[in-house]
Amino acid sequence: MKEIEIACPIGKEPSAEQIVAAAARSMGVSVKAVSGYRIVRRSVDARGDILYRYRIEAYREGETADEYRVPEYQDVRDAEPVIVIGAGPAGMFAALHLLMRGKCPVVLERGKDVHARKFDMARLSREGIVDEDSNYCFGEGGAGTFSDGKLFTRSSKRGDIREVLHQLVAFGADPSILIDAHPHIGSDRLPAIVENIRKCVTEHGGEYHFGTRVTDIVKRADGGFDVRAAVSDVASEKAACTEKTFTARKVILATGHSARDIYRMFADKGWDLQAKGFALGVRAEHPQSLINRIQYHGKYQPYMPAAEYSFVTQIEGRGVFSFCMCPGGILVPSATGPGETVLNGMSNSARNSKWANSGVVVSVEPEDVPEYSRYGALSLLHFQMDVERRMFDFTGSIKAPAQRMMDFCRRTLSSGLPATSYHPGAVPAPLHELLPEHVSLRLKYAFPEIGNKKMHGYYTNEALLLGVESRTSSPVRIPRDPETLEHVTIRGLYPCGEGAGYSGGIVSSALDGIRCADMV
Ligand SMILES: Cc1cc2nc3c(=O)[nH]c(=O)nc-3n(C[C@H](O)[C@H](O)[C@H](O)COP(=O)(O)OP(=O)(O)OC[C@H]3O[C@@H](n4cnc5c(N)ncnc54)[C@H](O)[C@@H]3O)c2cc1C
Repeated sequence: MKEIEIACPIGKEPSAEQIVAAAARSMGVSVKAVSGYRIVRRSVDARGDILYRYRIEAYREGETADEYRVPEYQDVRDAEPVIVIGAGPAGMFAALHLLMRGKCPVVLERGKDVHARKFDMARLSREGIVDEDSNYCFGEGGAGTFSDGKLFTRSSKRGDIREVLHQLVAFGADPSILIDAHPHIGSDRLPAIVENIRKCVTEHGGEYHFGTRVTDIVKRADGGFDVRAAVSDVASEKAACTEKTFTARKVILATGHSARDIYRMFADKGWDLQAKGFALGVRAEHPQSLINRIQYHGKYQPYMPAAEYSFVTQIEGRGVFSFCMCPGGILVPSATGPGETVLNGMSNSARNSKWANSGVVVSVEPEDVPEYSRYGALSLLHFQMDVERRMFDFTGSIKAPAQRMMDFCRRTLSSGLPATSYHPGAVPAPLHELLPEHVSLRLKYAFPEIGNKKMHGYYTNEALLLGVESRTSSPVRIPRDPETLEHVTIRGLYPCGEGAGYSGGIVSSALDGIRCADMV
């Protein structure tokens, strides 16, 4: 096998014949002696001319590619049940992996199926009414469904990412995610994939229960669990909730970073929890054309992918960084309860909106908020809730408090705001005062620094800052045994994914689901 690299202008991708000819030249053999090839990676290189760079493995006769084979799922109708709480990436991949291991996943999800969920999100954007069980964070597919679907974990530290990427392709994702340096799926494609995963689980004998919000987890004397849930008829708005108890010897808890009731349940029971640092800041929205101009150095052409960016810097001992950048995307309201304003970003597969948005956030550690120390392990959770409430109280709705970027740094109110993709709307606000000072001051220094040193043109009053980006990761950790992945004191309970504080993002949460299922 020989690894070769081919560079070509975007829009002039090499044909199979050209790749084989390049491989033959590089290997010093005839074209006939090249038995095949595999594209390993494709990345955009915008340092000079705008190019795609391909990394390719070429094979001689007798050599074959190390192909990944999606494992077989077993029929688990009569197998031991394992309760999986939460149908986000962690819960879905745990369920799939349980099928492979011959266990029967029983998935309990507080939200609705991926199609019904869309109506609640549309209502949220239109009328500002949050359904506490069905929103941008809660419902089938979890917070990953209506996202940009960036799949950026390339690290193999947490497990074999090929298992996640290949399964996503098997369930309907574009195969380009297997080779792109910055793969993404898009929120127009994700629902079908999420639905195909559910169908696979139920066709093999696993169960999915929607409208099933877990309210209590009881460890029985025999070591098993009673998991109590409030069950609502998701098809009917008026139907009353009923109580239902599910039983199993093992439970995977994959409820995500916004399941505040689950953290409270742990605290009430005296089960171990820890405060965990997270990051908080704003969403910055620029015209995509401006980001294209900056990142492609004025050479952008419409057939090129919408330009991305990312940065990280240190200001006064804390990281300030871009988070979950959505090229050609839109801003969405991702609150999970009334009286909160929270923003995040998503984009469709084509990434073709007029805007580029990204979280720009500052790391926050428990020692930054000593006034919340009385809440113990929930200190940062209370801090997060207070900031979200302050944003809501300023506008009196889920309209976002907003300020132009330079005005924010000069600490003056904006007299008018540019257009925004945030459907509920924005209101001019002193974001520099609404944000906690340790966040606001670091952002004030960060924006000009990024504009001066990294992306000329980024620091501009054409950019709008909207508050608040606060659901970057969990502010609480549910500690687990590093060997068995069980909760440190409640054996048989596996805190899993982003809500447990062990992952961040779609791929790493899926990988954590797989690891927990393996341990079960
Ligand atoms: C708008 C948006 C865009 C994003 N974009 C990206 C991106 O492009 N790339 C990326 O990698 N990450 C992105 N993320 C983050 C990513 O979605 C999360 O990191 C990931 O979904 C975490 O997976 P999880 O399974 O651990 O938790 P979640 O996805 O949060 O899933 C938890 C599930 O548990 C359910 N649940 C909660 N409480 C209960 C209960 N009491 N009973 C029953 N069920 C319950 C919830 O309804 C939810 O479905 C985005 C997030 C948002 C909100």
